[in-house]
Amino acid sequence: MNTIKYIFVTGGVSSSLGKGIIAASLAKLLQARGYRITIQKLDPYINIDPGTLNPYEHGECYVTDDGAETDLDLGHYERFLNVPTSQANNVTTGRIYQSVIEKERRGEFLGKTVQVIPHITNEIKERIQLLGRTGKYDIVITEIGGTVGDIESLPYIESVRQMKWELGDDNVLVIHLTLIPYLKAAGELKTKPTQHSVKKLMESGIKADILVCRTEHKLSNDLRKKLALFCNVQQEAVIESIDASTIYDVPIFMLEEGLDSITLQKLNLSDATPPDLVQWEQFLKRHKNPKSEVQIGLIGKYVELQDSYKSILESFVHAGAKNEVKVNVVPIHSEYIDDSNIAEKLSGLNGILVAPGFGKRGIEGKIEAVRYAREKNLPFLGICLGMQMAVIEFSRNILGLKEADSTEMNPETPHPVIDLMEDQKSISNKGGTMRLGAWKCDLKENSIVGGVYQYKTIDERHRHRYEFNDKYKNQLEDAGLIATGINPQTGLVEIIEIPAHPWFVGVQYHPEYKSTVANPHPLFVSFVKAAHDHSELSTEKVRENNATI
Ligand code: GLN
Repeated sequence: MNTIKYIFVTGGVSSSLGKGIIAASLAKLLQARGYRITIQKLDPYINIDPGTLNPYEHGECYVTDDGAETDLDLGHYERFLNVPTSQANNVTTGRIYQSVIEKERRGEFLGKTVQVIPHITNEIKERIQLLGRTGKYDIVITEIGGTVGDIESLPYIESVRQMKWELGDDNVLVIHLTLIPYLKAAGELKTKPTQHSVKKLMESGIKADILVCRTEHKLSNDLRKKLALFCNVQQEAVIESIDASTIYDVPIFMLEEGLDSITLQKLNLSDATPPDLVQWEQFLKRHKNPKSEVQIGLIGKYVELQDSYKSILESFVHAGAKNEVKVNVVPIHSEYIDDSNIAEKLSGLNGILVAPGFGKRGIEGKIEAVRYAREKNLPFLGICLGMQMAVIEFSRNILGLKEADSTEMNPETPHPVIDLMEDQKSISNKGGTMRLGAWKCDLKENSIVGGVYQYKTIDERHRHRYEFNDKYKNQLEDAGLIATGINPQTGLVEIIEIPAHPWFVGVQYHPEYKSTVANPHPLFVSFVKAAHDHSELSTEKVRENNATI
């Protein structure tokens, strides 16, 4: 077996520099050269996983097939590589300590004092090498969350130092991502923060092999030389990462800068095969040259923070490129929608997406938005909570069950059209206890989803506690809201549609987690197409109207 190579991506100077995108871009280039790659994220916080975090904290919670609730960077890894990730790809300090403490309770440390070094660092190294040992990958890229110098990331940095010492520089590579700020008043790019950050890394015994420099302006040769000298790296290992108009440009920029070839050289791997990026470039071309535009309203309650809906926004990028349409996503705060302002707030939209979410805040606005989409024949996609709101809206306004609700919002409702699953009723712990991960769903023929997916049975990822209440199924179907996707194991309704409407689909699962550049999600592709058709129709209508004036 070949030696597994490990690449670490650390960050300095500032957070939010895009370590995840750099890691994913490098991985893409190495994958395009024929290497088998996976990417892992180590998060220094104490939560066991981000499942219990409010989206305002770290943005969206991403979900893998095996039901792990993870950092949103795993979404980037999947979207770039088109390879599914799993529980092993995201590890938090909480999880590390949890397993060390469990081992201690089982007596596995044989009376020893349990300490950060070696017990915590061993557990960290174990989690990194676990992926290597699967035999599925040639290279494991591990992104270390946070910024070098943070107290909480010290055990991770120390683990990297140990791995470099144990496995050697040929097998372990450190890429340090920093910021080169531009001082407008001086008209200059400044290298000092990067010098300090590299020094900080050195204090922990790690010499960065490659520097990736985030910058708003091009790095001159002199500046690259200076960085190389002061930061103790080869000049070819100073990589410029200039601001990009789309994250999907970054692999191309990194290729131009030679990040993949210097990485391969340092790891003693062949860089003879150039990367095959034909499909990627075709995607970029379509993405950048749309033939028309659509406006899609994203109705949610976390809209102030775009990261909360990361996967949805990226799914629109993929689906837009596929349709050669620019999708302008218009974020609309559901808390401020009511029946008096709905027409104004949603005017000019060609489609409406009601977003996932938890809790009562903003749900009446979501229900109003569903009603608007249903009555105005606007293409509608409801995801998870969005699907549940569609069932409530239909029950209230078509079945006349005025107090229909989800028991999540009103436990006393006389018409619990959305209700807690039986096996959820005894659960009190919040973390990791929802219906999570991939579940199968049988699709009904002669339905939108039946036509959209190429399969009769699909599997899609879930993250919820509440479900469509089967007791109302017949009543809803008789009135025109049809269950078109059923879970074959449990009989639960996973998809609803309104056949009398041009395009009205609600899904209990999260299609956005499975959309990638190579495989745009078919439901998003079809939704964007429906919105596009709607926009064409309305343009025609406008023309027609103008002709009669
Ligand atoms: N709050 C809802 C539930 O738990 C929907 C969850 C979601 O949108 N992800 O069922």
